[in-house]
Amino acid sequence: MYQAPRGTQDILPEDAGYWRFVEEQVRRQANLFGYGEIRTPTFEEVGVFLRGVGAGTDIVEKEMYAFKDKGDDELALRPEMTAAVMRAYLEHGIFNRPQPVRLYSLANVFRYDRPQAGRYREFHQFNAEAIGELDPLLDAEMIRLVWQCLTSLGLTRLKLQLNSIGCPLCRPGYLAELVRTYEQRLAEVCPDCERRIRLNPMRLLDCKNAQCQALIEAAPKTMDYLCPECAAHFRKVRGYLDEVALPYQLNHRLVRGLDYYTRTVFEVWPAVAGSQSSLGGGGRYDGLAEQLGGRPTPAVGFAAGLERIILNLKSQDIPVPILRGAEVFIAPLGEAARGAAFRLADSLRTRGATTVVAAGERSLKAQLRQANAIGARWAFILGDEELAAGEVTVRDLTRAEQAREAQDKAIERVLQAREQQT
Ligand code: AMP
Repeated sequence: MYQAPRGTQDILPEDAGYWRFVEEQVRRQANLFGYGEIRTPTFEEVGVFLRGVGAGTDIVEKEMYAFKDKGDDELALRPEMTAAVMRAYLEHGIFNRPQPVRLYSLANVFRYDRPQAGRYREFHQFNAEAIGELDPLLDAEMIRLVWQCLTSLGLTRLKLQLNSIGCPLCRPGYLAELVRTYEQRLAEVCPDCERRIRLNPMRLLDCKNAQCQALIEAAPKTMDYLCPECAAHFRKVRGYLDEVALPYQLNHRLVRGLDYYTRTVFEVWPAVAGSQSSLGGGGRYDGLAEQLGGRPTPAVGFAAGLERIILNLKSQDIPVPILRGAEVFIAPLGEAARGAAFRLADSLRTRGATTVVAAGERSLKAQLRQANAIGARWAFILGDEELAAGEVTVRDLTRAEQAREAQDKAIERVLQAREQQT
C-alpha cells in the first residue's frame, strides 16, 4: 500500500476546519491591512533561490528540491516565498506602481528537512511583503500584521522577539568585533562554530550547541554597533510598536546569515518555545532586489507556518468553527424515490442549502447513521407514500423529531432555521 511521502501530510475533512479558519482569518487580516494577494508558481528557475535565498544557506544547500526537467531546465520547488515574490515584482515592473507595494500569499513550500513534530518537507506559509520603501513604519506594520493574525485566531502568551542586525555599513565593524571575541576563546568553541567564524560569523549567535551558550551571552550585540541611520530606524520601529502597546523582547541572538538582510529582524514564539517552535519570522531585506538583478529596492516581510499555528491552536484547546458536511441529507427509499431525491437536492442547492443524497442501497437506519456522521441538521426521507403526495418526511436530527410536509414547505423550513442560526 502506498503512503504519503515522508514529511508530507494529508489534510482530512475533520482537520479542514482548522485550515479554513486560519486561512480565512489571515486573509481577512491581510485585507484589513491593505495587502493584495499574489500567487506565484510552485517551482521557479533554481537561480531565483540560489541568489534570492543564498547559496551558502541550509535551505538552498541541503534542503532544496532542485531538479532538471525533461527540457534540461534547472528548476526548484519553492523553499520559501520571498525570493519568488521579488522575482515577480521585478518581472512585472511592479516598481513602476506607487510604492510601497503590499503583497501577501498563502502557499505550500518545500524543504528536504528531517521530519518531526512541527517540521515537514511540504508545509504551508502565510507570507507578506511590503516592497519599495525604507520607512520603519513598514517594519512595525509587518510585525503588527503577523501579531494580529496570530492573536485574532485566539492564540495567547505569544512572545515577540526583536533585534536589529544593521546594514552593510555598520555590520562589518560588528562582525570584526564578534570574530575577535571568538578567536580569543577558541578552546570553548564547538566545531560547527569554528567553521562559522570564517564562513558566516553572524550565525555564531544562533548556535544551539550547549558548549557555545556562554560565549553567545558574552558576545558583542549587534544593537550596540548600529550606525546612526540604523539606530534611528530601530528606535522608530520600537516607537511604533509602543504606540500600539505591542510588547516585545529584545533578543541579540536573533540573526539572519545573509548580507541582504538589513536592520530589523523578528520572530514570534509560542507560549512553550523550543527550537522547532517559531510560529513566524521576518525582517528587512533591502539588498534582495539587487541580488535578483533589480535596482536597489528596500523591502520588509515575514512568513508564518500554518502547520505550527494549527498545532498551537490544538494545544491551547482553541475551538474553531465546525464545517458541516451538509445541512440536508436526503434518504430515498426505492428506485422511484431516488430520481425524486436527485431533483429535490437540486432545488435545495439552488436555494443555497448544502445537500447530500444517500448513495447505494442501504437501509433507512444506515442512511440516517451517515446523515449524523456528516453532521447534517436535517434528514429528508422520501418513501413511496411521500412521493405520491409530493411530500417529504423531515427529521430534525438535533432533536430526533420528525413530521411529513409538502416539499416546498420543507425547503422553507430549512432556510428559516438557518436564518435563525445566523
Ligand atoms: P523561515 O522561512 O525559515 O523563516 O520560516 C518561517 C516559518 O515557517 C517558521 O517560523 C515556521 O513557522 C515555518 N516553518 C519553517 N520550516 C518549517 C518546516 N520544515 N515545517 C513546518 N513549518 C516550517
